[in-house]
Amino acid sequence: AMTGTGGSVIRYDASLERELTQRATIAADLRRGLTAGEFHMLYQPIVELPHGRLVGVEALVRWTRADGRVVSPADFIPIAEDTGLIVDLGAWIIDTVCAQAAAWQREHGPEALRSVAVNVSARQLLDPGLPDLVAGALAGHGVPAKLLTVEITETAVFGGGRALATVHALSELGVSLALDDFGTGHSSLGLLRTCPVDAIKVDKSFVDGLGGTPQQEAIVTALTGIAETMGLRTVAEGVETAEQAQRLFELGYRYAQGFLFARPLPPSAIDAMLQQNHHI
Ligand code: C2E
Ligand code: CA
Ligand code: CA
Ligand code: CA
Repeated sequence: AMTGTGGSVIRYDASLERELTQRATIAADLRRGLTAGEFHMLYQPIVELPHGRLVGVEALVRWTRADGRVVSPADFIPIAEDTGLIVDLGAWIIDTVCAQAAAWQREHGPEALRSVAVNVSARQLLDPGLPDLVAGALAGHGVPAKLLTVEITETAVFGGGRALATVHALSELGVSLALDDFGTGHSSLGLLRTCPVDAIKVDKSFVDGLGGTPQQEAIVTALTGIAETMGLRTVAEGVETAEQAQRLFELGYRYAQGFLFARPLPPSAIDAMLQQNHHI
């Protein structure tokens, strides 16, 4: 990376050049990959506590490159954001997820899933066309707006302005809004006043502190109180142990997501769960 060596002098670093070239290559590959159909969606179950009944899913994008290598969204989403490609990729994601939600409704009935969540990044929220795009995908596939949850991060709406206007327009469509990675940003609590959210997703880092000291549990404990008062749903993310799930239930959490219940899965695996009495 760049190292400032006092004042305005910035040392040139060969690894920075490598990184920039790599990013440019990935950006070009992303664009090609989108046309070549290299992306697919996985769906991670969201369950109701304590029994673990499947109530919803979160769609998570995957990229398998032509050479078979799988790239993590944590690596390519930031590049897709910087290059603006997230707008086209995001449009493909929203359409694909709505098509899948419609298929589940047709096969398993309108009550089979309470919500199908899709992630929307900061750059997408700056696109004033996003609400129309979502409305078009819902109408095109015949998906009721309330089935779709749009997950947004606090940092994306922190600046207010255009992103916040988009969020309000999305809310008016009737989709649910969830604040993702809740508690990791700068203004989590403040946003609950300005942003029309229906749910908060409590970040894994806080779930990891469960079963520890009262200090470590403080945020998870406090959030249920706030959420209840404000009429928000809470989903705990990254639940990996039965102890964490048990503790969450004791603290009043109704919904959880994590490897304890299921990893992100292909649509066929969700179909199988919906057939088996909705249990994992
Ligand atoms: P996120 O939205 O916070 O998604 C949750 C991430 O945590 C997912 O990683 C999921 O696989 C992982 N996870 C779930 N349960 C557990 C657990 O019990 N333990 C651990 N260690 N991890 C767990 P994934 O799929 O690699 O996605 C990473 C991030 O990339 C997402 O974080 C999200 O910010 C972004 N992303 C993924 N798909 C999309 C997408 O379709 N659109 C956009 N804009 N961003 C996406
Ligand atoms: Ca998410
Ligand atoms: Ca999250
Ligand atoms: Ca995250």
